[in-house]
Amino acid sequence: MQSESETSVRLRFAPSPTGYPHLGNIRTALFNWLFARHHGGKFILRIEDTDISRKVEGAVEVILDSLQWLGLNWDEGPYFQSQRLPIYREIAHRLLEEGHAYLCYCSPERLETMRQEQAKRKQPPKYDRHCRDLTQHERTRLEATGITPVIRFKTPLEGETTFYDLTHGPVTFKHDTLDDFILLKSDGYPTYHLANVVDDHLMAISHVLRADEWLSSTPRHVLLYQALNWQAPQFAHLPMILGSDRAKLSKRHGATTITEYQKQGYLPDAMVNFLVLLGWSLDDRTELLSQEELIKHFSLERVGKTAAIFNRDKLEWMNGVYLRKLSLGEFVQQAMPFLDSELPKSVDRPLNNDYVSQVLSLIQERAKTLAEIPQLASFFFLDELQYDTGLLLSGKLDAKSATKVITIASQKLETVTTWDATTLEGILRPLATELNLGTGELFGLLRVAVTGRTAAPPLFQTMAVLGKEKCLKRFDTALQSLSTYFS
Ligand code: GLU
Repeated sequence: MQSESETSVRLRFAPSPTGYPHLGNIRTALFNWLFARHHGGKFILRIEDTDISRKVEGAVEVILDSLQWLGLNWDEGPYFQSQRLPIYREIAHRLLEEGHAYLCYCSPERLETMRQEQAKRKQPPKYDRHCRDLTQHERTRLEATGITPVIRFKTPLEGETTFYDLTHGPVTFKHDTLDDFILLKSDGYPTYHLANVVDDHLMAISHVLRADEWLSSTPRHVLLYQALNWQAPQFAHLPMILGSDRAKLSKRHGATTITEYQKQGYLPDAMVNFLVLLGWSLDDRTELLSQEELIKHFSLERVGKTAAIFNRDKLEWMNGVYLRKLSLGEFVQQAMPFLDSELPKSVDRPLNNDYVSQVLSLIQERAKTLAEIPQLASFFFLDELQYDTGLLLSGKLDAKSATKVITIASQKLETVTTWDATTLEGILRPLATELNLGTGELFGLLRVAVTGRTAAPPLFQTMAVLGKEKCLKRFDTALQSLSTYFS
């Protein structure tokens, strides 16, 4: 049985559709989701789409898809703030009537001049409270000019606000550093501050977990809760994610949106495991945790205070681990769309499932992402390989000796009736001794001849999958290329 306090645990993810979700956004969603699931609470999805000028077409769909892809299912929503405008207007007017807010008629031009002057005096930009104490007479005169006012919050002029942050401890902001921030814009839309507080209250949100960049907004929110006589939720601000150079994560550090990672062939489980470690750890050691384990162990006590560093190599390594954990059938299913879209058009479609399965059993060990599979496996599918003939030559092997070796190997293999890795090994290993070559030299040469590359999966298994006909044909092609070295 859940206790009463557990059932009232209500978390929300509240993205603004101003772009595609990046790693930081999704990390926030994940922490909220884990906290809700750990406590048997609810996870609510709310789209904060009140800034119409910054709205990006299609962003909402991508946000929903990304959450679904990662398995971060929500219990309520998505709610859209743009569909709740009358609620915010009503609250803004209540604040106005109760003396916690005022109408501001300042024109954008006046505000701009004010800002420039503040910049000249090296002061932080801050509304100068010009309209805070207008007389009734002044207000009537401004009203008559037809200007639509905004509604601003009357931030106390003195004193300070302290709140307890679950990751940072007590945090204090002096009121004289805060602005009389806007609640309702002249277009009738609420600002983030107003809509966020109103919805967190009306949706009975118990805990707000969000990125550190919102910490400076929180005293404003706390003042709003007080003015409205509402109880504030508990806050936990999450550490920033920085690149390995400690700069804010950006394109320079690789893909930043979740969609890009999906396209590059990262598995959702690997992504979740990787993201959770950006700011949380079980014991500073354990790297691999399943979703069940994360739900069981997630706690705010283990959320770090300092910035998390994004390490792409670690993500690749982790994805490789998750790829290897898949059954062959699952791996084939995941990789098939990548092969289908990326292998050259000359390769016959539909791809043969059995053959793909044999190929992928050799690739699974090596792949770090699904997107690199077509490249790793292409030689299994192509009719003709393109490679530099020079790759066939090495220390001991010049064109003449390489020709001799491939010819002998070909002759021996032509008689083979059971074409499997054990039989091939049983023939080729003794051949090295026979020809007075190191196994590395012999196998290296044959590997290039059948795959066109110096690094590929184990030779005998590769040859077994390729089949007799293809291997012998590739030996012939290699011999033809080598013959040009004599002419
Ligand atoms: N809409 C804000 C964002 O895009 C929400 C911040 C918050 O969680 O309060 O991140």
